[in-house]
Amino acid sequence: MPHHQLIVVGGGLAGLRAAVEAQAAGIDVAILSQVHPGRSHSGAAQGGINAALANHPEGHDDTPEKHAFDTVKGSDYLADQDAAIQMTSDAPGVIFEMDHWGCPFSRFDDGRIAQRPFGGAGYPRTCYGADKTGHYLLHCLVERAYERRVTMYIEVFVTDLIVDDGRCRGVVAYDMIRGGFEAFTADAVIMATGGAGRIYSNTTNAIISTGGGAALAYRAGVPVKDMEFIQFHPTGLLTTNILMTEGARGEGGYLVNDLGERFMSKYAPAAMELAPRDITSRSITTEVLEGRGIGGKDYVYLDLRHLGAAQIMEKLPGIRDLAIHFEGVDPIDEPIPITPCQHYTMGGIDTDVDGRTVMPGFYAAGECACVSVHGANRLGGNSLLETIVFGRRSGAAVVADLVGRGGRGDASAAGARAVADLQARVAALAARGVGGQDPYAIRADMTVTMKDHYGVFREERQMREGLERLLALKQRCATIGLRSAGGVFNLDLMRTLELEGMVDLALAVAAGAVARTESRGSHSRTDHPLRDDETWLKHTMAHYTSAGPRLDYKPVTLGTFEPQERRY
Ligand SMILES: Cc1cc2nc3c(=O)[nH]c(=O)nc-3n(C[C@H](O)[C@H](O)[C@H](O)COP(=O)(O)OP(=O)(O)OC[C@H]3O[C@@H](n4cnc5c(N)ncnc54)[C@H](O)[C@@H]3O)c2cc1C
Repeated sequence: MPHHQLIVVGGGLAGLRAAVEAQAAGIDVAILSQVHPGRSHSGAAQGGINAALANHPEGHDDTPEKHAFDTVKGSDYLADQDAAIQMTSDAPGVIFEMDHWGCPFSRFDDGRIAQRPFGGAGYPRTCYGADKTGHYLLHCLVERAYERRVTMYIEVFVTDLIVDDGRCRGVVAYDMIRGGFEAFTADAVIMATGGAGRIYSNTTNAIISTGGGAALAYRAGVPVKDMEFIQFHPTGLLTTNILMTEGARGEGGYLVNDLGERFMSKYAPAAMELAPRDITSRSITTEVLEGRGIGGKDYVYLDLRHLGAAQIMEKLPGIRDLAIHFEGVDPIDEPIPITPCQHYTMGGIDTDVDGRTVMPGFYAAGECACVSVHGANRLGGNSLLETIVFGRRSGAAVVADLVGRGGRGDASAAGARAVADLQARVAALAARGVGGQDPYAIRADMTVTMKDHYGVFREERQMREGLERLLALKQRCATIGLRSAGGVFNLDLMRTLELEGMVDLALAVAAGAVARTESRGSHSRTDHPLRDDETWLKHTMAHYTSAGPRLDYKPVTLGTFEPQERRY
């Protein structure tokens, strides 16, 4: 049974940065990842990463404090202000570190790292590498992790935590290459498994962004926080929901309705197309609902034509390729049909600013975690930043918690029990076979329910109906049949094993959303259109029970920025 001092689940930016930090301090670290780390969803990030470097001619008086203010205002005041301040003050340092480690950021003519304007930001502070920022950052950290000799278990699918005497002692996984189940014991585990976009049918997220890591922690007794806050990105391609980066509007792109109007002038007269995502997605949806979608249909245009071929080719080459190949539209000549799509999971595993959770030995970082820096609405460019800042901090926290304390003793007995439990679960699924519930039907029902009942605008009756549907799906999960058991690269097994956890997270979104009788950030209720700080300036905590989530609440850390009405 493999043992490492630290196991990091997930090879995206958060997991890699955590691993590099701990390994550099002499800790024996292993990364377990469902896909090769270089194929993590982080690599799909396009637009950029925020830091108050003050390199842009219009941003020379930018500061981390102003970045923190924009983040907190963008969050509709639900972010913990100490966490936002921590992130923005760590930001310049982590950018320079990535630069020194070889990340090829785009440059201004004077050689300094280039920055572009992004939504909801008072200054142009988004650093980027053309429109492939995530790819550059990810490959830089993959190289760093190999150079540091971090152990990599690749194509290993984690299904459960090993919990012994209340402490996290490792994970259990399906080894896709060898086809068996195995325990990996550890003195500490960092969960860095990314977002849960795939609980929605209309998402920009990768196939593997199923929320699996958050779900298995939740089921093991670690609460998830603020799950009702789901970000809808304003500009997904109409047909495939592939993302058209906010950088396209940062470079000057327009949003246009059927009448040819730049309709954002009605909703955010100062910020226009660079209003925060929640406001922009609502504006597009309102145009569509009021009949001003293109040809009366459910989409509008992202128009880049006025930028000219040279700027598009230099700053947005990947966007052009995606639009040509997946929508049949060349943005140099034609406007791009777009629609708001699920994009980001603001909620997640409840952690402090060092990735610690309520469970000793268990930490989380990146999109699967909720620190919380994004509150009710994340600003573009702050998520890549979060992964690196809090990945690094959680790696450092493990070092601080482990060094000098000796090993935690042998966890192989607990590991063996956890493997036996998983084997029994798979045997029961296999025994039902095709006679059991069809997991693909349940998944399809869940993703459409989330799209239709917990979208850009929400309302009591529609959400309650959704909740009933999800509770019924949860019941059906108890009798799922596994179509094909055992063997190597058994995707059927993986999709079946992760399904109930996805339904659990969907239920946490639904229950939190029904309960929160106000509108804040991305949670916009037509029946409760105003923000209600008196009652709802608090974090939703969802605790797992087999009958559905049990909710309670915890205070938001305030103290620096007084909550005010958001205007852009
Ligand atoms: C299309 C797109 C564009 C984006 N653009 C930007 C942007 O420009 N700027 C910005 O700030 N943010 C952007 N974001 C958001 C940002 O990219 C993500 O929030 C961030 O990269 C998540 O990183 P992560 O390390 O938390 O997880 P990920 O990069 O998603 O990695 C998750 C890792 O966990 C592993 N994993 C998952 N489940 C398991 C399991 N059960 N067992 C083993 N391994 C598992 C996977 O193999 C993977 O290695 C974008 C997101 C998308 C989808």
